[in-house]
Amino acid sequence: MALSQVVGRLIGVRQHVVDPGGGGAHRVPRPVEAVVVGGGIAGMSAAVVLAERGVRVTVLEAAPTLGGRLGAWPQELADGVQANEHGFHAFFRQYYNWRSILRRVDPELRFLKPIPGYPILSADWPTEEFGRLPPAPPANLLALLLRSPSLRLADLRAMDRDAALPLLTYDPVRTYAEFDDRTADELLNSLRLPDRARAMLFEVFSHSFFNHEAEMSAAEMIAQFHFYLLGNPEGLAFDCPDEDYGSAIWQPLARHVERHGGQVRTGFAATRLDRTPDGWRVSAADGTAYPAGHVVLAVDPPALAALVAASPVLTGAAPELVAAMPAFGTPGPPYAVARYWCDGDVDAGRAVFSGVSRQPTLDSVTLYHRLENESRRWAERTGGSVLELHAYACEPGVPAEELAERMRAELAALWPEAARLRVRELRARVEAQAPAFTPGSHARRPGVRTDAEGLYLAGDGIRTDFPSALMERSAATGIVAANHILRAEGGAAEPVRSIRPRGLLAGR
Ligand SMILES: Cc1cc2nc3c(=O)[nH]c(=O)nc-3n(C[C@H](O)[C@H](O)[C@H](O)COP(=O)(O)OP(=O)(O)OC[C@H]3O[C@@H](n4cnc5c(N)ncnc54)[C@H](O)[C@@H]3O)c2cc1C
Repeated sequence: MALSQVVGRLIGVRQHVVDPGGGGAHRVPRPVEAVVVGGGIAGMSAAVVLAERGVRVTVLEAAPTLGGRLGAWPQELADGVQANEHGFHAFFRQYYNWRSILRRVDPELRFLKPIPGYPILSADWPTEEFGRLPPAPPANLLALLLRSPSLRLADLRAMDRDAALPLLTYDPVRTYAEFDDRTADELLNSLRLPDRARAMLFEVFSHSFFNHEAEMSAAEMIAQFHFYLLGNPEGLAFDCPDEDYGSAIWQPLARHVERHGGQVRTGFAATRLDRTPDGWRVSAADGTAYPAGHVVLAVDPPALAALVAASPVLTGAAPELVAAMPAFGTPGPPYAVARYWCDGDVDAGRAVFSGVSRQPTLDSVTLYHRLENESRRWAERTGGSVLELHAYACEPGVPAEELAERMRAELAALWPEAARLRVRELRARVEAQAPAFTPGSHARRPGVRTDAEGLYLAGDGIRTDFPSALMERSAATGIVAANHILRAEGGAAEPVRSIRPRGLLAGR
């Protein structure tokens, strides 16, 4: 353990038990049926926990493959089939709940490989290295402030320290009460940061949440600073699978659920929920129907709103859920992912993953041929490279190929050698499925438990009363949903963990 982590732990920066779990039978004492709608991280996390406790769980996934926004599928290219994915993901080390689900299929998490460094590229300023900070707070914060060329001592003096205090005093109730109506943009303005620090340190961070600063709640941004940096005992370090997500995660997790008696059905879209005397009936697009005492809706926000709207019974059974849907179902701005298979390579010194600051479209670049085995083999065979470019919050209405081309041109401005790569293949997508964290949305954000008995929600847009975000929130809400079912049926609950619940200076 690094010294900064020892110091951090002494002052309370450590793992926190949200729910110790337990409290019931190893297997539910009587037959229990559950349907999980959605086979992404949230749905599969719920299904894993339920199946292990003997609940007869069926997962209905609309797409032909599992994984949702972490999905992977075989991609036909001119020279053979290669795995393609919904996009590069950083598996941060404080993702305790997601990692505990992944340990079911790889107890040592050997498939996750550390990614060295976390550089931020800019056309205006030299590259900034996020990854070489001491792992834990407060040393990481001090190092960030003192070492970063983006923040000089004079700048720190000019900064409004009172305005910066909310970042260190995150409180799950007070922060939302005080800051949810303001925008992240207003918060950043109030800090009076030098432009370079704002661009290189703060904007890159907020873009990673698929929301524009001007449309994102300041409270959400404070919560995410706490979760990733200021309250995180594991540091801003992350790992990535060295195989595609299908081989490394989804196929093994589906086998795990099936081995415990669950069923995983891909290509089955749920179309409607109805009430039965014993619980619920979930209908699927092919005309099949699934009765169950408990249902977990683990779909993305627009899909949840569509399913709720198509289920008239919920108007009476879950009026609060129905009322929350118009706002919740409106996703954040579109995001774009472009994977390029090219002839030639970028310079050997380029990092596997880089964040990008202040380009109009491009937010990150990943060198897949230096990350994932199949891409590595393709590059070795062809002398080429596999690059993935992301835009996390882009202009609506622009076709995917045009966004891909814009991102490629912007990359060439940062890495001149990228202009010389000849494109062999491009697979580009633009989608809008990420939850929006607009100002004022917290009070209306649905939690795991709905106002209808036996109906639960899970996903990265669902509220938690402990720190979480993105993949980790999906896994955590999936587990919390499973725990509600297990406790209702006499089964032992799964432990839920997180980082410290409040900021270092939040007081009691
Ligand atoms: C490009 C990109 C990069 C990202 N990078 C990171 C990262 O680095 N780190 C990180 O932590 N997070 C990252 N994320 C976010 C992360 O992918 C999500 O937070 C997470 O995958 C969401 O999982 P979920 O299960 O909540 O939802 P989803 O993955 O959206 O799963 C919902 C599932 O429900 C299915 N579905 C929808 N409607 C129906 C229906 N009617 N019937 C049946 N099934 C249905 C969908 O097909 C989907 O499979 C990234 C996301 C993207 C898009």
